[in-house]
Order: sequence, then structure tokens, then C-alpha cells
Amino acid sequence: MKTNKITTLLIGFTIVANAQAPKQASTFTQKSNEAVYSKLNFDDTADFTDAKRGFIATLPDGKIVSKTGNVAVNLNDFAFIKGKSPATANPALWRQAQLNNINGLFKITNGVYQVRSLDIANISFIETKTGYVVIDALTIGEASTAAYELVKKHVANKPILAVIVTHTHGDHYGGIEGLVSAEDIKSGKVKFITPKGFYEEAVSENVLLGNVMRRRAGYQFGLGLEKSATGQVDVGLGKPFLSGGSSSLLQPNFEVEKTGQKITIDGLDLVFQLTPNSEAPAELTVFAPAQKVFFSAEIASHTYHNVLTPRGAKTRDAKAWAGYIDEAIDLFGDKTEFIVPSHTWPVYGHDKGITFLEKQRDLYKYVHDQTVHLANKGLNKDEIAEEIKLPAELSKEWYNRDFYGTVKHNAKATYQFYLGWWDGNPADYDKLPQVEAAKKYVEWFGGEETALKKATESYQKGEYRWVAEVLKHVIFANPENVPAKNLQADAFEQIAYQSESGIWRDLYLSGAKELREGVIVPKNPINRAAGFLASLTPEAIFDYLSITVDGNKAAGKEISLRFVFPELNKNILVYLKNGVLHQSQTRVNDKAEFTLAISKAKFVELLTNPENARTILFSEGVIFEGDPLKFRELAGVFEPANPYWNIVTP
Ligand SMILES: [Zn+2]
Repeated sequence: MKTNKITTLLIGFTIVANAQAPKQASTFTQKSNEAVYSKLNFDDTADFTDAKRGFIATLPDGKIVSKTGNVAVNLNDFAFIKGKSPATANPALWRQAQLNNINGLFKITNGVYQVRSLDIANISFIETKTGYVVIDALTIGEASTAAYELVKKHVANKPILAVIVTHTHGDHYGGIEGLVSAEDIKSGKVKFITPKGFYEEAVSENVLLGNVMRRRAGYQFGLGLEKSATGQVDVGLGKPFLSGGSSSLLQPNFEVEKTGQKITIDGLDLVFQLTPNSEAPAELTVFAPAQKVFFSAEIASHTYHNVLTPRGAKTRDAKAWAGYIDEAIDLFGDKTEFIVPSHTWPVYGHDKGITFLEKQRDLYKYVHDQTVHLANKGLNKDEIAEEIKLPAELSKEWYNRDFYGTVKHNAKATYQFYLGWWDGNPADYDKLPQVEAAKKYVEWFGGEETALKKATESYQKGEYRWVAEVLKHVIFANPENVPAKNLQADAFEQIAYQSESGIWRDLYLSGAKELREGVIVPKNPINRAAGFLASLTPEAIFDYLSITVDGNKAAGKEISLRFVFPELNKNILVYLKNGVLHQSQTRVNDKAEFTLAISKAKFVELLTNPENARTILFSEGVIFEGDPLKFRELAGVFEPANPYWNIVTP
């Protein structure tokens, strides 16, 4: 909503003039990173061979310009990632970052092509007699168009007959309109295939929780970071360009209902496997029998994935996840020669592919089983995270490393999945809120000065995790304490430099940057809001509005409004009662104080441009009756979300 933008301007620009720059690696960090070289097999370069295999071409200048004119993707930004890792990066992550730098159009086997690393995710093209079936649509339309252009130029100029979106995450569906038009999907001319429940789940995640997840995703994907040896290098899954471009969510016209379901498109046979609540609430994998290709979506990739993504989401079911990989081996294993994940590069060869699937399966199952095992022994989630170590036969495989998800945070996620956030100790059950507790801690530490002095000593001993924890109290007791913020930033930074996980690196570096400079506001955020609201049903819009209600303002008010959407033949009674905004299509004839007949498009306009309310309400086709003050009164209980809420300070 418009009001969000105003809030953004107000809170956004608090950049401190003399903010500290990123520091170099400490001797502790240098040693920790150097040790990685002896722990893992850097002589094994098979991944580089596979990632380069079948290369055809890439973007000549490495750039994709968005419709609004900014450079949304610049592959040259990551050209600094080459050779031996700098002391400020974990060597294993640096290696993964080099692999994810390999970009362009690749031929996997006859009739199967993939464009990689023009976006965080991959896009695959299967050639049919007269066109292409596309798997996944990238984040922004500008990137999917660029990928399709490469295919048209270097393979064959043919139309897209179908788009399969494997799951509900924006990096797989957002760019669909760069490939095909919304009209062609609506008319059925182009098939848009998704797992069942796709649309509802995508809406629920992105609309209801959109604000908080976007802010946290900014940390996870390091959106405000420089791309450099002391900044962003990779998120483990790929490169997070995410600076501008257009994205939309469309309704599918074909939903896959069950595992084993087959479809033939222009002579191309495909078989689907549904994998709900694995990496996404609605997800599928695809097998192309004639081509012997298994498209594994995100249930198997060249990294350990997230059982719970740090941006926040419903916790995923690790046991089911392992089960789906096992099921895929049963269903498609015999006939598979190529495994093509939606992120990272393919696995070539049958035997290698089966080993890859088995070891990915056992990675998820091992951490799941051991978490439950240790929970039953009475360890809490932090203790379990410290305790679990993968067996060497799993941990030595590059694709099982912590590049994206980590053993530590996935163990905590599994604990939470079964047992919730609490560990059973009453001392942790009703803790003081963080600011109140922080003030007491600092008082008991003997004041800020003493706390900072002790924290400095710990920092000099390389105890970065402890420094980060203890200084949180000082900063939350007094957010104006610049030396405390700078020292916590330094500790975050060293943790980041040592992290094998790209997203751990990003979230610690983002925290460090905001401690030094204040809240980071991205320059060219992806334009989702308008297109997104327009793609919602009125019911979903009212669901969204109900979570924007400020309960305190709504308390004691009773207001009923009737909305008529003539083109949808839909009447909805919306009423505020007991501090809650309800909607009903069964009680639509109950008394309403105000009735508004309006097209959905104009209603969306009203929500996104409330300052033009008068013009919209008095425009052609809009009819209202009753007391307009009631409409205004209802509008008054909505509170716009703050998109750039403080994270590292209170
Ligand atoms: Zn993805």
C-alpha cells in the first residue's frame, strides 16, 4: 500500500556518516578458514566439469535490464570470485560460489536444455515437436525472457506450449509473464501446470506473512550487501540478483493431483511426483522417461537445503522429505541418467545419480532421526544443534555440505517441528521481553562500560558467538551505544567470514552493516505489490486486510460493509466485530451500513492509492449507498506494516 512507501522514506535513510567499513579476517578466522582446506577434498573437481558440461552460450554483456531501466542482473558483479579463497570467506562456500558463477545456456541431453545462474534459480526447456515445455520461470520476467531468447537463438525459435512451476516460491513462478502472456494461460492456449494447492499456498505465504518475510529475506539473501570478498559471494543455492524487475503470481490452469500422474504434451511424455511439505508446502518433481531426465525441483540439489528457512516459513517435514527422495528412487531411479535440480547444476550418469539421491535422502533422515533421538535423551534444541555431526560418508560429499541449509539450524527446525519452541524448563517459559531483560542484564553486569570491556576481552580471544549474544543486551538496553554496536558488528562479521553457509554469511553481514549504518533500504526492490494484489481473489484481499487491523483501534467498533464485485458475480459482507475483521458470503444479506459496488481492479486501485479514493469512488461503474463515514471509519482501523522494522536494535 502507498502508505508503506511513506513510512519507508521516514525510517529508511538513517545512514551514519562515519560508519565503520568491513574489517579484515582476524587470526582466528584465518586459521578456521585455512583448516577447511585440509578437511575437504578440494582436488575433486568433478563438479566443475559437470557445471560446464554442454555449454552453448551466455549473455554477451552479462546484463539484464529491467523494464524500469535499472540493471536487474549483472553477471559481472561476481567476476571477483576466482582462485583461492580470501581469508574473509569460507573456502568451501567460495568453491560453491565459483560453481554458481558458471552461467548461460547448457545442453543436458538431446532435447533438454537449461539456463543457469541468470537468476538465483534455473529454468529448463524440453523440446517437443513444435515447441517447448518449460520447467520453472525464475524470479523476474526480464530474466526468464533473457533465458528464452538464448534458447530461441541457439537451439530453435519455437513457441512455449506449457510452463511447469515446481513449487510455491517466487524464484520459480515470479517470471512467468516473461515467457507467456497471462491471457494465453487464462484461455488455456498455454498450459500452466503446478502441484495441487499451489496458488493458495503461494498466496498464504506471500500475502499474509509477506512483510515480515521480505524483511528477513533481505538478511538471508544479503540484499543490502556489496558484492565483494567482504560482502555477498553466493547464497549457496545460487546468486541473489534481486535488484529490480517485474514479478507476478498467476493462477495455474492445470493442477497435478497425484503422484504417478502422466501427461503428454505435443508428443512429450512426463510423469509427476507430488512432494508436499518438503521444501515447499506444494511441490512436485517431474520425470521425462524418453529423455531419462529426473527434474528434482528442490528436494535434491548440490547443497543441504533448509528444513526451516531463516527468512521464516512453516517448518518443513524432514522425514517426509527423505521419504520423497526415496520414493523418487523407486519411481524413476531405474530409468534415470540425468538429475536436474531447480538450483545448481545437473548430476550426470545413472550410478552417480542414484548415489547422489541416496546420500541426499540420508542427509535429511540422519539429522531428523538424530534430533529426535537426542530430544528423547533430554537435550534441548541448542544442545542438539551442537551435538549432531554427520557421519563422514555423508559429510564428505560436496552436495551434502551446509551451503544453504545447515545441520545446526535444521536440527533446531526439526525440534521445533515436533516439540515447539520451548524446551520444558519453566525458567524459559515466560521470559521478560528483550528490552526489559536487557536493561536488567546490563545493570547486573555492572553497567555498559564493564559489559563492553568484558566483551572486548572475549572478542580478542575469538569468542565471537558469545560476544554477539552478550552485546545484544547492551544494545537493547541502550541502542545509542555506538562502541557496543561496532563491536557486535565486528563479531557478526567474523562469524560470517567463517560460515560455510551463504545465507549465514549474508545474515550476519547484513546485521553487521545495519549495526554500523542503520536500516538498509534496497534501491530497486522487485515490484510485486500492485501485480500481486491484482492477482488475488477478493476473499484473499479481505484475508490480507484482516491481518492489517490494529486490534487496539478496532476494539469496541462494529461496522458492516457489503462489497459487490459485479464482474465476478460475487457479494461479500465484511464486518468488524470484537476487534476482528470477518468476511462472509453466506450472510451477505445481513444489514450493512455501506454498500460498495466496484470492479476488483478499481478496488485494488483504491487500496494501493488511498489518496485517490474520491476520484475512484466517483468514477464510472462504481456505485455506493449508505453512510460513507462508516467506510472511512473502517479504513481507520487498518495499520500499514513497517517494511523496514529494526532487527539488530530495539
Ligand atoms: Zn528456489
